[in-house]
Amino acid sequence: MKLTAEQELIRDTIREFVEAEVHDRVAEADENQQFPEDVWDELAELGFAGLTVPEEYGGFDADEVTYSLINEEIARGHLSLATALSVHCLATSCISEFGDEDHREEWLPAMNEGRPVGAFALSEAHAGSDPGAMTTEARLDGDEYVINGKKQWITNGARAGVIVLFAKTDRDDRDTVTQFLVPADTDGVEVGKKEDKLGLRASDTTTLIFEDARIPASYRLTEVGRGLKAAFSILTGGRIAIASQATGLAQAALEDAIEYANEREQFGQPIIEHQAIAHKLADMQTKVQAARLLTRDAARQNEERVAPMAASMAKYFASETAVDVATEAVQVYGGYGYTKDFDVERYYRDAKITTIYEGTSEIQKEIIARHLRD
Ligand SMILES: Cc1cc2nc3c(=O)[nH]c(=O)nc-3n(C[C@H](O)[C@H](O)[C@H](O)COP(=O)(O)OP(=O)(O)OC[C@H]3O[C@@H](n4cnc5c(N)ncnc54)[C@H](O)[C@@H]3O)c2cc1C
Repeated sequence: MKLTAEQELIRDTIREFVEAEVHDRVAEADENQQFPEDVWDELAELGFAGLTVPEEYGGFDADEVTYSLINEEIARGHLSLATALSVHCLATSCISEFGDEDHREEWLPAMNEGRPVGAFALSEAHAGSDPGAMTTEARLDGDEYVINGKKQWITNGARAGVIVLFAKTDRDDRDTVTQFLVPADTDGVEVGKKEDKLGLRASDTTTLIFEDARIPASYRLTEVGRGLKAAFSILTGGRIAIASQATGLAQAALEDAIEYANEREQFGQPIIEHQAIAHKLADMQTKVQAARLLTRDAARQNEERVAPMAASMAKYFASETAVDVATEAVQVYGGYGYTKDFDVERYYRDAKITTIYEGTSEIQKEIIARHLRD
């Protein structure tokens, strides 16, 4: 699947940026659980905060393959940064696709500049794989909605200036999930617990609490009851982004393992000369390329907006590949791989989340299987 000259140029530009500006700072950001805000601003200056925004609102309007390439390259350097960006892009996509002219003009030009940061608030403590079980409610009161409830695991939770929120207009009716736009500085919106995570530590993941938070009724993005359908259609692209990120992380782990295996000597020769290690690397190389091709195919199909099965296959395969390849990379490094002196330790911790968020591997297999039933 050949890239166009323009896609190659964009990929090379972001690769150079990540190598120059991101790579050396990741370990510290991970250790301190600090999101690199200055790198975010630089990414925004390059136009990447508006990746999924149409040009008429000043956006980058990347085609699906270019969007995938950018996600892969950023995650090759720093998964936390790539995750924050792709969630911001979920929010801008919702406003672009479901908002009206006023919403787009009010929010998108500034979000293209990187501020306000966007969040996508679907999950709750008891509603993850089954978001229809959510209990957050937005009840109409005159010309305002009054929001009460709690969202959990929200990426960019404390950083966000605008939240794309999913809530029921009637808590007791599963069919009333609706999408809203909530400015984060609305009275009654609070940031709750920040999660202390295994990996993805520089990404900000928090609870968001809504207590009698009032927004204008005009901030409803979808028809009442159309929220879940909207979420799932946006998450098709989101899953391809996560598959791209998983591929990028796996590529980084593979490259480090190859370099180490060529340098490290045991029994008088580089360990790559031991067949067990050479074959491990051959498996890793093959899986990473397979993940990339599956992901790129899903991105191509998503240009026509007909890719739910392809997106799920890519997300499932690429994320499980990231876990396998990062695990094997640690093995290639031996004891050194188990220390924070080498990046493979972080890849190992970071990889796991890609099999969980935006739909677990089990849920991806359910979606794939649904397409196979008569
Ligand atoms: C770091 C991080 C960032 C996140 N960012 C966001 C965000 O920005 N916005 C947001 O809305 N959410 C976000 N999430 C939430 C994430 O999408 C959910 O954690 C995920 O969808 C799984 O839901 P759960 O954790 O409730 O697990 P559960 O749904 O409770 O699942 C537990 C286990 O049961 C399995 N399972 C559940 N149902 C089925 C089924 N029908 N068939 C087979 N197996 C099943 C699952 O696969 C899993 O193995 C984030 C989560 C994390 C950890």
